[in-house]
Amino acid sequence: MDQQLQQEGYFGEFGGSFVPPELQEVLSYLSEQFYKFRDDPEFKEELRYYLREYVGRENPLTYAERLTKAWGGPKIYLKREDLNHTGAHKINNAIGQILLAKRMGVKRIIAETGAGQHGVATATACAMFNMECVIYMGAEDTRRQALNVFRMELLGATVVPVHKGQGRLKDAVDEALDDLVRNYKNTFYLLGSAVGPHPFPTMVKHFQAIISEESKLQIMEKEGRLPDAVVACAGGGSNAIGAFAHYIDEPTVRLIGVEPDQAPSLTQGVPSIIHGFKCLVLLDEEGQPKKTYSIAAGLDYPGIGPEHSHLKVTGRAEYATVTNEEVLESFQELSHTEGIIPALESAHAVAYAKKLAPTMGQDQIIIVNLSGRGDKDVEQVYQMLK
Ligand SMILES: *Cc1c(COP(=O)(O)O)cnc(C)c1O
Repeated sequence: MDQQLQQEGYFGEFGGSFVPPELQEVLSYLSEQFYKFRDDPEFKEELRYYLREYVGRENPLTYAERLTKAWGGPKIYLKREDLNHTGAHKINNAIGQILLAKRMGVKRIIAETGAGQHGVATATACAMFNMECVIYMGAEDTRRQALNVFRMELLGATVVPVHKGQGRLKDAVDEALDDLVRNYKNTFYLLGSAVGPHPFPTMVKHFQAIISEESKLQIMEKEGRLPDAVVACAGGGSNAIGAFAHYIDEPTVRLIGVEPDQAPSLTQGVPSIIHGFKCLVLLDEEGQPKKTYSIAAGLDYPGIGPEHSHLKVTGRAEYATVTNEEVLESFQELSHTEGIIPALESAHAVAYAKKLAPTMGQDQIIIVNLSGRGDKDVEQVYQMLK
């Protein structure tokens, strides 16, 4: 494959754009359009409008009083992305990118999806803006998340099951990139996480940064100070980078990303190129991206966003893992102490916060990013607990 290196879009040694020239052309144009509209007052106003009127922002920063008491340590606050329309943070990015596609005059949207959440968010935004929508989804994931497939179809999308490879998220990304190369003239690839070649990591972070923009104002209002730690789960890393963004330059705030112990890209990955960008990747003995398995389909990706890779090697952010047992326990604990059923992905962040709490004082504050709600996971958890 003819590869091209682009200076823009680097985070230290990570990121960049390693794609064939025909795709590079598409990405360079996209990059140009993104920078052009990002700061355009009309674009910003339109984005604010849909985030408010359609997504339901701002969402609360809820003080978890009972959880705080139960853990006996720092005050626990929950950033409530679970309350967004469609039930997770992914809609923030889907609305942002679709408004960009609209400005670019594109009518056909394609996307990849793992758990189905990004597919649902994309299909939702496409229905709203009357765009054609094709969603690539690993065949295995279409079985694990059959209801989300039906949701996407209800919303008017065509769901294409991908049987190649493991039939999972990684394979769906490959198919979507192939489609883009074939159809770039009339197609916008609405990528679902802070991964992929430039400008995607930068663009997705831009649209997810609303999470920490809000939480910073909210915690200042409630506590008059910054939190001591922000904890978020990390699959590709979009909710985490959004939850971290406005704290990266605040050195007193610990930033902690949490991965499943069965897909620990940041804790055990090595620098490598995957899907057209450089990041920390889990490799097998043959140097291929490792077959990962997580009970949370949304965290099931052998790579991680380039900015997280950089935050990890520079030590600005910390990354930790939790086990399936800890996740299942937190899924239940948050449900019965706070009346909030979290997504299995988000339960990873809760599980790590629980381990962190005893190491901190009662005068301290942890913000846990609740990336999504658990309705989609209730049946799976029921089967696992039975
Ligand atoms: C998709 C998803 C994730 C993982 O994706 P990131 O890009 O790492 O945020 C986490 N939580 C929920 C609820 C999801 O749907």
